[in-house]
Amino acid sequence: LRQHSVVFLELFLVLVLGGIAMHVSDPDVPSSLDALRLEGNLSFHDVSLAAKDFGNRFRFLPSAILHPVSVSDIAAIIKHVFQMGPSSKLTVAARGHGHSLQGQAQADGGVVIHMESLRGGGTRVHAGERPYVDASGGELWINVLLECLKHGLAPKSWTDYLHLTIGGTLSNAGISGQAFRHGPQISNVHQLEIVTGKGELLTCSTEENAALFHAALGGLGQFGVITRARIALEPAPEMVKWIRVLYSDFSSFTEDQEKLISARETFDYIEGFVIINRTGLLNNWRSSFNPQDPVQASRFDSDGRILFCLEMTKNFNRDEADVMHQRVEALLSRLRYIPSTLFQSEVTYLEFLDRVHVSEVKLRSKGLWEVPHPWLNLLIPRTRIKDFAEEVFGKILTDSNNGPILLYPLHRSKWDNRTSAVIPDEEVFYLVAFLSSALSSSDHDNLERALKQNDKILDFCNKAGIQMKQYLPHYTTQEEWKAHFGDRWELFAHRKGIYDPLSILAPGQRIFRKVV
Ligand code: FAD
Repeated sequence: LRQHSVVFLELFLVLVLGGIAMHVSDPDVPSSLDALRLEGNLSFHDVSLAAKDFGNRFRFLPSAILHPVSVSDIAAIIKHVFQMGPSSKLTVAARGHGHSLQGQAQADGGVVIHMESLRGGGTRVHAGERPYVDASGGELWINVLLECLKHGLAPKSWTDYLHLTIGGTLSNAGISGQAFRHGPQISNVHQLEIVTGKGELLTCSTEENAALFHAALGGLGQFGVITRARIALEPAPEMVKWIRVLYSDFSSFTEDQEKLISARETFDYIEGFVIINRTGLLNNWRSSFNPQDPVQASRFDSDGRILFCLEMTKNFNRDEADVMHQRVEALLSRLRYIPSTLFQSEVTYLEFLDRVHVSEVKLRSKGLWEVPHPWLNLLIPRTRIKDFAEEVFGKILTDSNNGPILLYPLHRSKWDNRTSAVIPDEEVFYLVAFLSSALSSSDHDNLERALKQNDKILDFCNKAGIQMKQYLPHYTTQEEWKAHFGDRWELFAHRKGIYDPLSILAPGQRIFRKVV
């Protein structure tokens, strides 16, 4: 009996706490889809691959996975599902690199489109006065970068991690330390090619089908599948000066960050992170960062304190190193960091942009990559960031051992308010990202602890009246989605009615239900 109870308890934990949904597939689905003429193929077996994501907490089994070879394969599937009308429950989800956190790229009993199969004519770089690249919606940003670098060019705005697809990040926003200057990735797109929820293939930009263009950017996959994107480029620097400095005072840290993002002459990338109760911090950093004054730095004791790290880079070409050093010195002289904590390093532009992949390789080798990730990403208005920090850092969170906590400011004016992305209503707002990991798939204690902490943080924002917005939002009821979009909900829902009237697309976002 005891053994049975243990097995039952384990099953309960897996099914309920692990967020796994049981699914019984519709037996008519294979025969209805099998009749379609496709260049690529549909797989009805091994569908469990499309029932997982980076979050590792939600699993919804699809009925089939489409491996498209051409855009017409994608159009054919969606048109077929659309023409089945309300009599069918089938839905369709584009899956980029599956790096969502809560099943957003999954489709319970539906069809998942494996976007990485779509090569769609390859990545084409157009040099010239206003350079740009045309790339498939299923292409990884790292591959786009590698292709652009062959021409001495690179996209302007990034995410911290490049093994994500173009369609996946453009469906959210795409934010990193360059966004204060260039805006998020969705502010750096000239044109999109999209298959709508009716199966129509449309090209769109600010001049052509503008409503669809704006709807799809930050649109959480609700209006169509992005099959191609035209992305703005700039000359790529050869090298990056990469700098980290520490603060113990939150106000000095954020004031310096805000000063830097608003200055005319400034760094090319500005982020920051919070360190709570970490031991041996400086020793960990030595491997990739050289302290400017090794003697002073070795005396710096980080143990047990809350520290704030400002991270910056300055791009340069090798023949401009002297000028770059002078500019960096001038910029640093205006900051109020703890003097013994200036850490710097010089790396190639590619090494800098692809930096998180180095950590991925290390974590994978230790079995720590494919674990549950109860991440929480918030956009907090500048006027409330201090209240937020006072309550969260040290009170709700007593250490940052479960993963990095990013904190950096962005300018609202660099975002296009015609897109679907939702941000706070203040010119400066902060991205605060709690990037927690469990230690293994069975580490329920840490997972539960992190989820409870996330709830406490959200609860605090609610009670304190902090008008924050979730980035990579996750809600389960339409009421919550309405509150998220606020006065932009009507436009969002109206556009949904035009481009995906049966609510076929991206069901894993749980915003609309398939019309049946
Ligand atoms: P998926 O998870 O596959 O899809 C995401 C959503 O978009 C789903 O709803 C899906 O249906 C839809 N979708 C996918 N492709 C298309 C398409 N072609 N057309 C229409 N809809 C589509 N984000 C940042 O902004 N900045 C960061 O620095 C950052 N760092 C990250 C680091 C890591 C390690 C991870 C795991 C995520 C990070 N993210 C970051 C979040 C990331 O941008 C999103 O999770 C993004 O959705 C992942 O892209 P993906 O290709 O895996 O998309």
